[in-house]
Amino acid sequence: CGIVGYIGNKDSKDVLLNGLEKLEYRGYDSAGIATLNDDGIQLFKVKGRIATLREKVDEDVEATMGIGHTRWATHGEPSEENAHPHQSASGRFTLVHNGVIENYYEVRDEYLAGVSLVSETDTEIIVQLIEVLNKEYNDVLESFRKAISLLKGSYAVALIDANDPDTIYVAKNKSPLLVGLGDKFNVVASDAMATLKVTDQYLELHDKEIVIVRRDKVEVQQLDGTALEREPFTAEIDA
Ligand code: GLU
Repeated sequence: CGIVGYIGNKDSKDVLLNGLEKLEYRGYDSAGIATLNDDGIQLFKVKGRIATLREKVDEDVEATMGIGHTRWATHGEPSEENAHPHQSASGRFTLVHNGVIENYYEVRDEYLAGVSLVSETDTEIIVQLIEVLNKEYNDVLESFRKAISLLKGSYAVALIDANDPDTIYVAKNKSPLLVGLGDKFNVVASDAMATLKVTDQYLELHDKEIVIVRRDKVEVQQLDGTALEREPFTAEIDA
């Protein structure tokens, strides 16, 4: 299973689909991507192979940012509905997740009483929670932080907001995730191998850190918002 993300000045689909192919070795049962352009979110999901996803993706629609996922089902059978990315009820927020949310029943019962869930995954509660919190805070970063702080378990997540084509929010705990740095673009990947073709400069992330990824800027923060300095490392090509 794996995650890939791209935000830059070129079409994102190739980086996302090629990246997911490079992550195939990790194993998966379904896959999907979501891209965002001026028309909104484009969402493509399949049970099965990346090759099938590639056929489903509309090649004519361009979008300079997006997130992708290969799923290894832990909660809910492998199916198109349970494949990631998952969306909030209004469709505003779209998220991919690797890992297992241990307290998802508790989060659902405490915060999501009024929300009808469309998948059987533990992941969907994260994106629904962000939307519910954002109604209260009216601040996406604050809502993301708060949601992450409520989760128990393992996660690497990437979130996009349909109202903001300039930001990918990421966070991790006990699941791998890196941010790759490019010239006028940045990427997110579970493994540098996924995106080595576009950059070999990566930021290592530690557990319970969040990162705000934009086209020209990457900010690493503690969960409380404290800014962190992080020097990139050069990823070696694995023979
Ligand atoms: N627990 C999530 C699910 O079952 C994510 C699984 C994964 O890491 O791919 O959908």
